[in-house]
Amino acid sequence: MLAGIKTFIFDCDGVVWRGDSLIDGVKETLDYLRKDLGKRVFFVTNNSTKSREQYLGKFTKLGLDVEAEEIFSSSFAAAAYLEQTQFAKTGKKVYIIGEQGIEEELALIGVPYLGGPSDKAKVADMSPGSAMPHDADVGAVVVGFDRHVNYYKMQYAQLCINENPGCLFIATNLDAVTHLTDAQEWAGNGAMVGAIRGCTGKDPIVVGKPSSLMIDYIVDKYGMAPSEICMVGDRMDTDIMFGKNNGLQTMLVLSGVTTEEKLLAADATSQPDCYAESMASFMA
Ligand code: PLP
Ligand code: CA
Repeated sequence: MLAGIKTFIFDCDGVVWRGDSLIDGVKETLDYLRKDLGKRVFFVTNNSTKSREQYLGKFTKLGLDVEAEEIFSSSFAAAAYLEQTQFAKTGKKVYIIGEQGIEEELALIGVPYLGGPSDKAKVADMSPGSAMPHDADVGAVVVGFDRHVNYYKMQYAQLCINENPGCLFIATNLDAVTHLTDAQEWAGNGAMVGAIRGCTGKDPIVVGKPSSLMIDYIVDKYGMAPSEICMVGDRMDTDIMFGKNNGLQTMLVLSGVTTEEKLLAADATSQPDCYAESMASFMA
């Protein structure tokens, strides 16, 4: 299998790290794939809380030598979508449910934004007769994982999507639960997106995995053939689907959320091309 693959795309959480801890053997495996076998590598994460720049800091802190151009996050994907669709040229604003990663990526493309961390402590005024104001220049609401999501933000997003003509509703990703800590699963961005879907009746444009946006971007930019790329991930409904939907080879690793039992119980059409214990298995 290795011979036919020129490029590996690694999911991050559950493959490279778990939370803030590096998974055993990752550094050695990356060195082996790059230096000994001459493979190209990229990293794609659905976690929108950080920008690519912030992820670069995380890779460095974990002792991994990674280039900024090798990192793709769903916070970046939201900004890339706004650029590709020319939204960025309209001068319209984005309302953010989400964290600093989305703010930093929007700032890089010059799109004005509001909400996000600055609306952390705001409370909707629901006194009799009051109408909560909202900015008519908001042309898109981006919903990413937000540890400070609140009723004010939901109402603000609802007003923009329901009342501003043509306002886009963009979700960085739909992960149902995430492994914020090893101890248990935590409600993921599916919860925040679900809240906004629930009060608008609209379905979001999803830019993270399994949507094709990030792979289209990588393939176009680097002129690669999808069949020569292998997606390595720990999640069936994001990583493996992302790979299968886009003509990539797929490999599931058991170092994250999917157990071997869950994998084997899944239906035949969603099975990866191969699976292994972890990234260290490349060296075995
Ligand atoms: N979103 C959040 C908030 C997360 O904490 C995580 C993983 O920790 C993810 C998404 C999934 O990230 P990845 O695509 O790297 O597995
Ligand atoms: Ca993962």
